[in-house]
Amino acid sequence: MRDEAGKSDMVRRSLKSVWHPCTQMQHHQTVPLVAVSHGRGAWLYDADGRRYLDAISSWWVNLFGHANPRINAQLKDQLDKLEHAMLAGFTHEPVIRLSECLAARTGNALGHCFYASDGASAVEIALKMSFHSWRNAGHGAKQEFICLKGSYHGETIGALAVTDVALFRDAYGPLLRQAHVVMSPDARGALPGESAADVARRAAAALESLLQQRAGHIAALIVEPLVQCATGMAMHDPVYLALARALCDRYQVHLIFDEIAVGCGRSGTFFASEQAPASGADGAPVWPDLLCLSKGISGGYLPLSLVMATEAIYQAFYDADVTRGFLHSHSYTGNPLACRAALATLEIFEQDDVLNANRRRAQRITAALRPLAAHERVRDFRQRGMIWAFDAALDDPAAAAGFSQRFFAEALANELLLRPIGRTVYLMPPYILDDGECDLLAARTAAVFESVMAHA
Ligand SMILES: *Cc1c(COP(=O)(O)O)cnc(C)c1O
Repeated sequence: MRDEAGKSDMVRRSLKSVWHPCTQMQHHQTVPLVAVSHGRGAWLYDADGRRYLDAISSWWVNLFGHANPRINAQLKDQLDKLEHAMLAGFTHEPVIRLSECLAARTGNALGHCFYASDGASAVEIALKMSFHSWRNAGHGAKQEFICLKGSYHGETIGALAVTDVALFRDAYGPLLRQAHVVMSPDARGALPGESAADVARRAAAALESLLQQRAGHIAALIVEPLVQCATGMAMHDPVYLALARALCDRYQVHLIFDEIAVGCGRSGTFFASEQAPASGADGAPVWPDLLCLSKGISGGYLPLSLVMATEAIYQAFYDADVTRGFLHSHSYTGNPLACRAALATLEIFEQDDVLNANRRRAQRITAALRPLAAHERVRDFRQRGMIWAFDAALDDPAAAAGFSQRFFAEALANELLLRPIGRTVYLMPPYILDDGECDLLAARTAAVFESVMAHA
């Protein structure tokens, strides 16, 4: 059923009653709203039977496709056993096994998992844990946080305070206790003759000068390791992670890695942290004090987030006194269905040797994107793991303003779900594309770019 503007019944009803996120609702007078009826594999199907390749994994969460039979089977099994039980005073097999599996992936460096449901809450928890553990240790003056230029850590009031994306933050500025913002190691900031590692070292030097002045008041530095996604896929050299680790150790500041977007294999390793060059005389791997995980962990099925903590942080709370314990209560913490979806997801990583398979998949996509990367109006083509990004050269500010929306609409017309961030076009496909889908993705992205740029 369609009205005179061609809108389907579902779209009309949605626009009337659903307040869509990250959207100016008025834009839907021209920007399409897609009514999804079902998904299978990498494809979403709309109510009119059209299909779209989900090239951004439905906001970076879907790792193994829609309606994945293996995840479905485990969820159906769990549904008949236990849908939910409170985690205070109770426990259950899915949450125990998930905590064990994740801790093992860090060699037990981060052996204690605390659960929530969304990424922003995981960030809130990490900030609270850092501050409270310092206070328990007699360092109550450490109440401030450091984040990177262009950082994104979620949009609740606490997470927004360590977020440096003006669009999301500025309107709520008066409500926030703004963090210190230091130079990003974004490789695009290279001066003539500088390598990405040089930019990382310069950013670490800027961090150190703040720590020299202020470390006594600072609880933690929070970093999106390797790729600052939401600001526009800003990528940096892994040496930054080792340098940040060393500085946080020297100045007694916690290091928080927000792996909500880059974790679960997105950056090429299971945790982005694993790509940091070993640091210190003993060549120990680099781990943060607190690590936040969400998005892909449940395979894109159910809301789940968690914070992994070191033994030292855990011990700072271990006491007979309740007020020295960590205080963060959430109704659905450790939800068994979400944990079971996560366990099914981790099992697929093991059974299908996903990280290696993705290496081959990434080579094919990169090769297929080569003509686009060489396009005269493509700037800073970049890739890390299963993330590709480039910036469109748009000289006219008026053309730049509508670029993202035009690209989104043109991509839909070419059976692709792609949603650029400003002038940055990026691909973040699920880890299941076959060769044909890899080639189709690259060819259609190039065609969409050509067509959008012809009018910009
Ligand atoms: C998406 C994201 C968040 C917030 O997660 P939500 O589940 O959307 O609250 C935080 N940090 C990073 C790096 C993210 O990409």
